[in-house]
Amino acid sequence: MANFTDHIPLLKPWIDEEELQGVLAVLQSGWISQGPVTQQLEQAIARLVGAPHAVAVNSATSALHLAFQTAGLRRGDKVIVPAHTCMATVNAIVMAGGVPVFADIDLRTYNLDPVAAEAALDDEVRAICVVHQIGLPADLDAFVALARRRGLILVEDAATAFGAKYRGRYLGGHGNPTVYSFHPRKMITTAEGGMVVLWDDGADEQARRLRSAGASISDLVRHQARGTLQQTYPEPGYNYRLTDVQAAIGLAQLRKLDRMLQLRAEQATFYNAAFARLEEVVPPYVPPEATHCYSSYCVRLPAANEGIITRILEHMAAAGISCRRGIQPLTREPYFAESHRHVDLPNTEAAAAQTLFLPIFPGLTRPQQERVVEALTEAVRRCLPRPIAVC
Ligand SMILES: *Cc1c(COP(=O)(O)O)cnc(C)c1O
Repeated sequence: MANFTDHIPLLKPWIDEEELQGVLAVLQSGWISQGPVTQQLEQAIARLVGAPHAVAVNSATSALHLAFQTAGLRRGDKVIVPAHTCMATVNAIVMAGGVPVFADIDLRTYNLDPVAAEAALDDEVRAICVVHQIGLPADLDAFVALARRRGLILVEDAATAFGAKYRGRYLGGHGNPTVYSFHPRKMITTAEGGMVVLWDDGADEQARRLRSAGASISDLVRHQARGTLQQTYPEPGYNYRLTDVQAAIGLAQLRKLDRMLQLRAEQATFYNAAFARLEEVVPPYVPPEATHCYSSYCVRLPAANEGIITRILEHMAAAGISCRRGIQPLTREPYFAESHRHVDLPNTEAAAAQTLFLPIFPGLTRPQQERVVEALTEAVRRCLPRPIAVC
């Protein structure tokens, strides 16, 4: 039986001296809520991805809410979205007054299928929420063309895909409102946090107001004016502020982004090579126009079903390795199940039944990866139905 020290976690944030020093400096500075360090993080990320504006908030859920609201989504507008995503994507649509309409994914990329999205359009659809799932950019060219042709709002949920590139540019750099998450499960972390990249000057100003109670000027601007400026409230807002304590962690993480991307890519290359020899396992597919940031490493076992995946997860756990079942369709959640009985999403269902996530994170060692491959190979031998020999 594996003991605690040789347990391999699914993920582990990479926090070291740089983050500690950054947090310490903020705590000692006398300004610990949202202020100059948050502004620095926003400017660094806007510059990195090549976008005019970035607004830091307390989660990607909040960032998505602001993306839809500032894009002009109205109460009752339908929004096309994959069901192969976390509840947070759809929570934000509902918070912004939208009504989610689920469309199927491409089973190779696990991303929204532009053909399925177009087939789901009707006169009440006003927006598409494309999710760059599991760290891989979706087929952006197709969605940009579709949105333009039909006059739709396009919002990119890149919560898991900060650092991934599409046609040589980071996600966020393609002209659409784009959202990142800084939860520890994602690429870089601020413990909790998120950001929305915006392209429209009006949207940027509105998002900054909305995140801070709707106030026309920020605490920082008022402070810099020595209290001589007074805010007004053009519309009600929220408290979606990221703090400078968190932003300091984010700046330290951002300095490690290139190393993180490189380490994850090397780990994925190792897994890919190992699973190329195991025909039961389909490694992640990466289309030529995209780079994967491997915030997670997802494999598909076409011969598996939910019961078999459960047994494989148990086998991995017994070997001291934490894995996770793939993303489950939102249409099965109690909130949607009743109203979505008729919805048929075969690829979303197949991904749910046949996929699992393996450990990947900076700090995962080669010997640990070898153990993961060995354990999965053994689990597949034991748990998958044996092919019938033809003679
Ligand atoms: C994690 C995640 C979110 C939500 O992020 P939070 O920062 O936890 O709000 C939204 N969309 C996707 C695709 C995610 O993976």
